[in-house]
Amino acid sequence: MHVAVVGGGIIGYLTACYLKQLNVDVTLIERGETGRESSWAGAGILCPIHPWLYPDSFTRPVDSSLALYPDLQAKLLDKTGVSIEWERSGLLIPFFDDDRTDHWQAAIDWSEKFGWKVEELDSLDSLRREPVLSDRIQKSLLWPEVGQLRNPRLLRAVRVLMEQLGIITVEHAEVTSLLKAEDRVSGVVCADGRHIEADQVLLAGGSWCGELAEQMGFELPVKPVKGQIVLLKGEPGLMHSIVKHDDVYFVPRVDGRILVGASMEYVGFERGTTDEVIDQLMASMCSIAPGLKGLEVEQKWMGFRPGSPDGMPFLGPVASIPGLWVASGHYRNGVALAPITAEIMSQWMVGNEPEMDISTFAVNRPVVQSLAVGFPDKVI
Ligand SMILES: Cc1cc2nc3c(=O)[nH]c(=O)nc-3n(C[C@H](O)[C@H](O)[C@H](O)COP(=O)(O)OP(=O)(O)OC[C@H]3O[C@@H](n4cnc5c(N)ncnc54)[C@H](O)[C@@H]3O)c2cc1C
Repeated sequence: MHVAVVGGGIIGYLTACYLKQLNVDVTLIERGETGRESSWAGAGILCPIHPWLYPDSFTRPVDSSLALYPDLQAKLLDKTGVSIEWERSGLLIPFFDDDRTDHWQAAIDWSEKFGWKVEELDSLDSLRREPVLSDRIQKSLLWPEVGQLRNPRLLRAVRVLMEQLGIITVEHAEVTSLLKAEDRVSGVVCADGRHIEADQVLLAGGSWCGELAEQMGFELPVKPVKGQIVLLKGEPGLMHSIVKHDDVYFVPRVDGRILVGASMEYVGFERGTTDEVIDQLMASMCSIAPGLKGLEVEQKWMGFRPGSPDGMPFLGPVASIPGLWVASGHYRNGVALAPITAEIMSQWMVGNEPEMDISTFAVNRPVVQSLAVGFPDKVI
């Protein structure tokens, strides 16, 4: 069997590897350069933002996916020599008296239900753990086992693995339509007229999958949600845990760099960072973590999260077009969900239906907008 994977982000990359390991021939086709879009830009936090806001049917695949990371990172290091800097730095959510949302009890209940270890810290212990935080802090919740990784390193490692596995990668080739034979997909057509034949096609084009689906004659409500990020040059040990608040999050890397993110903007595919949004992030940083004031800004960047109205990805076959599959719309959780996506999709495409109930992710599900975790339809 030969599969054409459309899109060279982490979802396309990993699924291509898993397919190849099942003896499937794979060609990965990328519009620009591989590994440059959302998967490169993301923060690499291995936990959904406020996971208690999601339905339980989302948490189970997340848990399964996160459980695959320890082996995956070890295998990537062993095979490619590239460390993805996966580490359990822990996640801390601080609480201030002027917070707009009180997550405390819902977060504890959710953690108990799903067996996530959580610690309740008073203000003194919170500041002992993270001295850069504002002394306005009243208390915090700490999940010591939450992990993180560095996205560009993950992409580099998986890219090397793809080469080792003999996956063919075609760059600078935008897929625009499908080839068909007797009503079945038989490959893809690129903008430059190239035909690439395949028995099955997987759309893993991230934020662009909504438009791509429309071109191919079916509906997929995936739209870009822009996020801007600032990278600060800190010293190792200045901050220990990922710190997440409603207004801003911080991700400390082992080398001392601290990532400050991320905006949620419904501006279509408008590229580039803007002073206004970066200033807002820095203002939130000064309020939540004043101990970071004055650190040099080393870099700013942005990316497009593949958003869906209910916050869930779309995984599985397109019923109306035999041979066509989708793995997209991972929104804020694509890195966290990448291993389980690759496992489910690769097995499914060789004929093994998922054992886990993933009907919440079905491509043809009735999509109900969730303002808590999805994109608000009216502003797009
Ligand atoms: C600022 C920010 C912070 C984030 N933080 C986190 C986090 O902490 N944790 C987490 O789990 N997730 C996070 N995410 C989300 C995560 O990065 C995404 O969900 C994930 O990267 C999506 O991967 P993808 O492969 O679907 O998309 P992408 O990485 O965008 O890849 C899609 C690829 O498809 C290509 N493509 C599109 N159309 C075509 C076509 N027609 N032909 C050929 N190629 C095509 C594109 O050029 C692109 O390279 C964040 C995202 C952003 C932007």
